[in-house]
Amino acid sequence: MATVLSIDIGGTSTKLAAVDEAFNVLDTVSVSTQDFKNEDAFFAGLFQAIEEISGRLTKEHKFQGIGIGAPCGIPEEGVIYGAVNLPFSERVEIVKLVEERFLLPTLLTKDSYAATLGVQVQRGAEAMANYVVLTLGTGLGCGIVVNHQLVTGANGQAGEWGHTAIARSNRTCHCGKIGCLETYVSATGIKRTLFQLLADSNESSVFRDLTFNQVTAEEIYQAALMADPLALEAFSITGEVLGAKLAELVAIFEPEAIFLAGGLANAGEILIEKVAVAMEEQLLSIYKGKVKVLRSSSATNEAAIIGAASIVWNHLKSSSKCLS
Ligand SMILES: [Zn+2]
Repeated sequence: MATVLSIDIGGTSTKLAAVDEAFNVLDTVSVSTQDFKNEDAFFAGLFQAIEEISGRLTKEHKFQGIGIGAPCGIPEEGVIYGAVNLPFSERVEIVKLVEERFLLPTLLTKDSYAATLGVQVQRGAEAMANYVVLTLGTGLGCGIVVNHQLVTGANGQAGEWGHTAIARSNRTCHCGKIGCLETYVSATGIKRTLFQLLADSNESSVFRDLTFNQVTAEEIYQAALMADPLALEAFSITGEVLGAKLAELVAIFEPEAIFLAGGLANAGEILIEKVAVAMEEQLLSIYKGKVKVLRSSSATNEAAIIGAASIVWNHLKSSSKCLS
C-alpha cells in the first residue's frame, strides 16, 4: 500500500511520519527544531530526516506526496509567513523547497488546521458538526469547525486566538504584542508561570536551582505528578486562564466540544479538569453543562500528523478523478 509523508513542524520538535490511506502511521522520525540555529540548518536537517524515513520504506510503501502542517503556513502560497517560534526568516517558500528537492506533490496547511482535520479523521462517522481544536505546543494554535467546515477566514489566517489578550497578563509575546493568551497557555507559557511562582514564593521545589532553559513543560508535568506544589500551581493557573478565555469562545461559536492537542495536552487530567471547571464557572447559563473539554486522542498525539496526511490523500484522490 502506498503512503504519504506527513510533517508536523513545531517550535520544539518536527515530526515526520509515513501514513497509509487508512491513516495508519507506519513509521516516524523526529528532529529537534530548537537545535537548528537558522533556516538553512533546519532544511538540511529536515531533508536528511526525509531521506532517512524514505530509505526505510519498502518499494510498495513509496511516498506519493508530502503534507506539511506548520505554524503560520499559508496553503495557497505554499509559504510560512512570520512564524515567530521557528528559526526562520519572515517568509519561507517551504513547498517550493521541498517539491524541488523530492519531486513529489507537496501541500501545506497551518499546524492548527492540520490538528483540526486530524480530529475530524480520527472521529470518523461520529464527527461533530461544531467543535474547536486547540494545539498547545510552543505556542497556542486554534482550529474552529462550524457545520463540519473548518473556518479559514478571508485569507486563510483565521484562528490566531492565541494572540488575543487576557486581562491578567502583562507578558510580552513573540508576536510583539503584550498579554497574549499563549504567553500563559502553551509549553513556553507554563514555564513562565512556574518561574514567576518560584520568584514570588519560598516554597521548596525541584525547579528551585534550575534556569529557565533547563526546564521543559514535560518536566513540569512530571513534577506535578510527584505533587510538586509549584508545578501543580502552574498547571492550575494555566487551566484557569484557558478555561475563562474558552467561556468567551463558547459564547461566539457554541461548540459541542473543545479538543486539546499538542505537547501540553499530554498532561491530560491535570490540565483538562482545571480547564473544564474554570470554563464552566464562567459560561453563560444557557451553555452550562453542554460543552465538553476532551483530549484530541487518548493514546497518542497524532492529530496534526493525520490531518496533514489527509490533505495529501484528498489532493491525490481529486487529481486522479480529474485524470479519469
Ligand atoms: Zn502574541
